[in-house]
Amino acid sequence: MKKILKLIGIIVLLFIAVLLFNTFRTSSKQVASKPLEKVGLAKDIYQNLAKGIQHKTISFSEEAIPDSTAFFGFHRFLEETFPLVHENLGLEKISTYSLLYTWKGSDTTKKPIILMSHMDVVPVDEPTLGDWEAGPFEGKITDKEIIGRGTLDDKGTLIGLLEAVEQLLEESFQPERTIYLAFGHDEEIGGSNGAAKIAAHLKAQGIQALMTLDEGGFLAEGLVPGVEDDVAIVNLAEKGFASFKLIVETNGGHSSAPPKENTIGMLAQAIVDLENNQRPYKMVKPIDYQLEYMAAELPFVQKMALSNPWLFKKPILEKLNAHTTTAPTIIGGGIKNNVIPTVAEATINFRILPGETIDIVEEHIKNTVSDKIKVERVGFLTNPSPVSSIESEGYQTLQQTIRDVFPSSVVIPGLVGGGTDARYFYEVSDDVYRFYPIRLGPESMTRFHGIDEKISKDNYKEIVLFSYHLIKRFGAQK
Ligand SMILES: [Zn+2]
Repeated sequence: MKKILKLIGIIVLLFIAVLLFNTFRTSSKQVASKPLEKVGLAKDIYQNLAKGIQHKTISFSEEAIPDSTAFFGFHRFLEETFPLVHENLGLEKISTYSLLYTWKGSDTTKKPIILMSHMDVVPVDEPTLGDWEAGPFEGKITDKEIIGRGTLDDKGTLIGLLEAVEQLLEESFQPERTIYLAFGHDEEIGGSNGAAKIAAHLKAQGIQALMTLDEGGFLAEGLVPGVEDDVAIVNLAEKGFASFKLIVETNGGHSSAPPKENTIGMLAQAIVDLENNQRPYKMVKPIDYQLEYMAAELPFVQKMALSNPWLFKKPILEKLNAHTTTAPTIIGGGIKNNVIPTVAEATINFRILPGETIDIVEEHIKNTVSDKIKVERVGFLTNPSPVSSIESEGYQTLQQTIRDVFPSSVVIPGLVGGGTDARYFYEVSDDVYRFYPIRLGPESMTRFHGIDEKISKDNYKEIVLFSYHLIKRFGAQK
C-alpha cells in the first residue's frame, strides 16, 4: 500500500512538474517596439471621412443592381479629395465600380503589396433609424466621433488608406516596391464581381505579391479576459462557408390520421441529429499559433492552461470555436393546420475549419441524418482559406509596424470565422493577412452592420497613421 501511495505521489509530482515546466517555458513572442517619427496630418481628415459616408454605396443583395449614382458619386468624391493620389497613381475600374490603384515602385524586381478594403456598406434597418445618434448617411461629426454606416466597415479603412498615401505623396515619398490599393464594391454580398475580378485581373498580368492585407482583424480592447493590453488580432486564415438544404418529401395526409413518420418530425429529427453530432474540435493551424502567442500574455492560471494544451485542449478549443460549426438558419414547411405537408425544408449553415472541406461536411451530413432526407448544396460555398505564414517578411513587417504604432498592444495571430474579400487573393499573393487597427470593445462589437455605427476621431487618426507607417515601411524596404 505504501509503495502504491509513493508511486501515486511521484506521478502527481511529475505531473505538476510538467505543467510548471511548460508554463515557465512559455515566453512572450512580442517584438520590441521602436519609436516612430512624428507625422503632421491634414486637419480635415475627419471631414473627409464624413463626406465619404454620405454616399449611399449600399449592397442590398446579389440580385440587386448597384446604385450607379451612389458609387460614381463616391468615386468623384475620392478624386476631389485626394488629388495627388489621382495624379500619381494609376487607376483602373473593374466591373464598373471596383477600384484598383497602382502606385508604381521604382524597383520592379521587388514583389508588390496589396492593401484592400471595400466601398460598399450594408443597408440600415428602417425601424432602427430612431436608435441612431445621427442619420446613418449624414456623416455627422461630434466632439469625439464620426457617425455613420461605413465608419467601421469599411470606408474608415478605405479613406484612411488614401489619406495616408496623399500624405506620403505630399512628402514626395516614392516607394521601391509597387503598392496596389484594391477596393471592391460588393464585399457585403460575396465580392464575386469586385474583389474576385480584381484578383483575376492581377493574375492575368502575372502579378505575385509579397502580401495582401484586408479587413477581418482588429485591435481588441477588453475582449480577452486577463489581458490588459490591447490585442491586435492578425488573422492568417478564414473558415470556409457552406449551406446545405435538408429536404423531406412524403405523401403528406390528413392530420386526423397522422402517419408514424411526419414530414416535419423527420426534418426536426435531422436537425437535432446534426446538432448533437457536430464536427470534432481540432488543434490546427492557426489555432496553435494563437495559443502559443496568447499564453505568454495571460495571468498564471490561464497561462498554465494554454501552455499545456495536451491537458486543457477541450475547453480551450471549445472556447475558440475550433471546429466546423453547425447552424440551422432557415426552416419551412406546412400551409394549413389540419394538413400534413408533403414537403419540409431546412437550411443549415456550416463554417468550415481549415483542414476540412465542403465535401467532408456533405459526407458528414449524409452519414448523420436519415437516408430519407435529401441533402443539397445551396447558395455560395467556399472551402477554408490556406493559412498564411508567421515567418514571412510580410508578417514580420506587419507585426513590427503594429508594435511600433501601438506600443501597448500585443500582436496575436488567429483565425476569422466570417468571410472577407481577402480569400480571393491567395492566388496572387504569397501571404494574406487580415488586420486594420479598428478598436473593438464589448460595446462597439454590435455596431458592425448594426445600429449607430461610429468611430472615434482618435481611432480614425490611428488608422491613418498605421496605414502611413505600413506603406512607408513596405515601400522603403530594400
Ligand atoms: Zn467589411
